[in-house]
Amino acid sequence: MPGSSTMLSLFNNYRARRSRSTSKSRGGCKAGATFLVIAPYYQRLREQAGILRRQRVKSPTVTATRHSPTRIRSFEVEPLDIPLIEPFGISSGVQVVARNVLVTVELADGTRGYGEAAPFAPYNGETQAGALRALRQAHDWLPGRNARTWRALAGEFFRRGGRNCGAAQCAFETAVLDALKRHERVPLWRYFGGAGTTLETDMTVTTGSPAEAAAAARAIVGRGIRAIKMKIGGRRGPAHDLARIAAVLEVSPKAPLILDGNAAFSRAGARELAMGMKKLGIVPALLEQWLAKNDLDGARALAEETGWLVAADEGCCSARDARRIARKQAAQVINIKFMKAGIVAALDIARVARAHRLGLMIGGNIESILAMTVSAHFAAGLGGFRFGDLDTPLFMAENPFRGGYKLKGARISVAHIAAGHGVTPR
Ligand SMILES: [Mg+2]
Repeated sequence: MPGSSTMLSLFNNYRARRSRSTSKSRGGCKAGATFLVIAPYYQRLREQAGILRRQRVKSPTVTATRHSPTRIRSFEVEPLDIPLIEPFGISSGVQVVARNVLVTVELADGTRGYGEAAPFAPYNGETQAGALRALRQAHDWLPGRNARTWRALAGEFFRRGGRNCGAAQCAFETAVLDALKRHERVPLWRYFGGAGTTLETDMTVTTGSPAEAAAAARAIVGRGIRAIKMKIGGRRGPAHDLARIAAVLEVSPKAPLILDGNAAFSRAGARELAMGMKKLGIVPALLEQWLAKNDLDGARALAEETGWLVAADEGCCSARDARRIARKQAAQVINIKFMKAGIVAALDIARVARAHRLGLMIGGNIESILAMTVSAHFAAGLGGFRFGDLDTPLFMAENPFRGGYKLKGARISVAHIAAGHGVTPR
């Protein structure tokens, strides 16, 4: 067939070309061997060739980073101490001053990004000193890197020590991402998904007496905030908490109540309080982490026995935790907080929670308007958050920042923010 003879001829031509090329290449190797005899001269040639090869391989990346406007020029870390209007108490301790950390990242084009760490020792043992230490190690390797690779940088920070301090991880990621998105003129709510720009927040009644709880509830209602979160589980026991809850409901009978035990209850204590509430006809909106963070069986039983929604907070710091909680049916809601492990971890947790049809809550530690605005961007942009707890800027006696979310009654909005998270030091 004419077709097959053409194919044969093409194949023979290919073999002939391949054979010529192979022998040329082998000849090249022989020539190289001849040069080896003149060792110093050849060594110099090799070095020069090596330098050229290195330049050929590396120069495009190096040049791109060196001249990129998003190259990180500097990284600064400093304490951020903000006095509170009144002590903020939870079951395991009280904070009088928010001892946080401010991180500033500056890009080659002069754009600055800011991040906040809000370590809260009564919550998980993290401290300002620990956050400062974890963040300062980045001085050695971060400058010169490109903010466009923020997720890879977040992973590197985590491996280099961020894993020991979730608040530091959050501050690092926030500052780098903020700088990048300000440079790109993209607001974070849009970056996180663009689902929306608003959400509703609750406000917290911290630990104290029933009279103090009633006074705090009156102030919350006066602000136009509907949902009330109460810190419970203190040393004075379930009967004291029951009296505080009743006092709050006397002020605001229809307030959706989020009762946060911060992992302080025993199973018996939890049952006692729940039964006391049932007797008074109290129906809370959410039981947030009443039991120890690893007591998943207890959390499941609490939800089953009461018929109320249970949220995991201290017990859910990673996507792995979220999967375990879903598997054990130990919660119906996950409280996502950037201070637990940063933004990347929060994105992972939200993805797992959605896949398992768990409800979402956004919360935080004792954070200024900076960190809380980042969380507002996240929850509004991602969408689908049923519970919002972004109230701690209202507890601060000073605001060292300009910008941030706008609050009208209980409604938070980030619609006005044009780039990054929109918060800048004064
Ligand atoms: Mg909590």
